[in-house]
This record gives sequence, structure tokens and C-alpha cells, in this order.
Amino acid sequence: MFFLQTPVLLYQKLFPEAIFQLKHPNQIALTFDDGPIPEVTEFILDVLKSYQIPATFFCVGHNIIKHKKIFDRILNDGHSVGNHTFSHINGWKCSLNRYLGDVNQFEKIYSTSFFRPPYGKIKKSQYNELLKRNYKIVFWSIISYDYHSKMTENKCKKLLENQTTGGQIVLFHDSIKSFRLISKILPQYIEFCHSLNLTFVPLKNSLL
Ligand SMILES: [Zn+2]
Repeated sequence: MFFLQTPVLLYQKLFPEAIFQLKHPNQIALTFDDGPIPEVTEFILDVLKSYQIPATFFCVGHNIIKHKKIFDRILNDGHSVGNHTFSHINGWKCSLNRYLGDVNQFEKIYSTSFFRPPYGKIKKSQYNELLKRNYKIVFWSIISYDYHSKMTENKCKKLLENQTTGGQIVLFHDSIKSFRLISKILPQYIEFCHSLNLTFVPLKNSLL
């Protein structure tokens, strides 16, 4: 089994204004994409609450509409929320206008200055236009592959632990696919980060 690592260096060249890491080397940011989803997001919120840890959720607009109460809980629990488009649209497969329309549709539900492109796929023209609109485009520095059907608990744990240092932005998912792994990995990973004396932060402009 071989998992491709995110081509972070290539992305940094293509998108120099985008965010891949935090400024402070003693901090770490956990990010959860694609929710809110019943049970999965709620489980994650329970874990975060039990450790008193803030995080960031890159939500999908149509899931917010379907699961408004869970979305409200994300906000009430003090987490940050980023725009992950309304319908989880793939930037490589659609026009600039359609892409911006989907981002705007999210914006009508919730206004945030953080944006993460679904699948990490965004064209330069789309990226430039979002920058003009003052979005901070946030990628990640560690990807957990928690959604991957062939990823095992042990491999996922090692992959995360081997890459974890301060300043990282870690990508998880609050999706049905990821629940098998994240339900086991998340508490262990939080404890691992604690053992490194890392402080968990939600994405905020001041930290980027
Ligand atoms: Zn996504």
C-alpha cells in the first residue's frame, strides 16, 4: 500500500499567498473537512470538548443547511469555521463563474475569511479571484488519509506521528468515510500532541 504525499512544495510555488503552516512553532491546528455530519461531527465535538481543544471546521454549505443544529454547536463550542464551498465543488472541473457562485452560496449562510478548496483542487484564476475577495486560502501540512478505505489505524497513527512538529495544520475529515479511523485516531493523536507540549489553536487571522 502506498499513499501519495501532498505535493506541498509544488503547491507553495503555485499559490505563494496560501497558508500551509502556522507562524508559531509551539502551536498545532486540527482541521476537519466536509461536515457537519450527524454522529461523526458530534463525536469529534465531544472529543474536542473533553480535551478542551479548539479546532477548525471547513464545512460544506449544503451540509450546514441539512444539519443546522450541529453547525450551531460547532460555533457555540468556540471552533472556527471555514468556507469549503456550498456543494463540495471540484475547481479543476468547473468554470470561474460557477466556482465563485458556489463559494458565494456558502457565504450567504455563513461569512468567514478562511477558504479551503475541496480536494485541494483550484485553478489559478479561481485562487486569484478569492484572494481579491480577501479570503485566506488554507491548505494543510499533514494529511491523515482518514477517508481512505485501505488506511489502517496503525499506519494512520504512524503517518501522523512521524510528521508532527509544531506549526502544522493537520487535515482530518468529519465524513461518514472517515469515521472508522477518526473515532480511534483522534483521542490518541491529541494525547500525542500533548506529549510534545503543542498548543491547539483554531485558525484565526492573528495566527497565520
Ligand atoms: Zn472536502
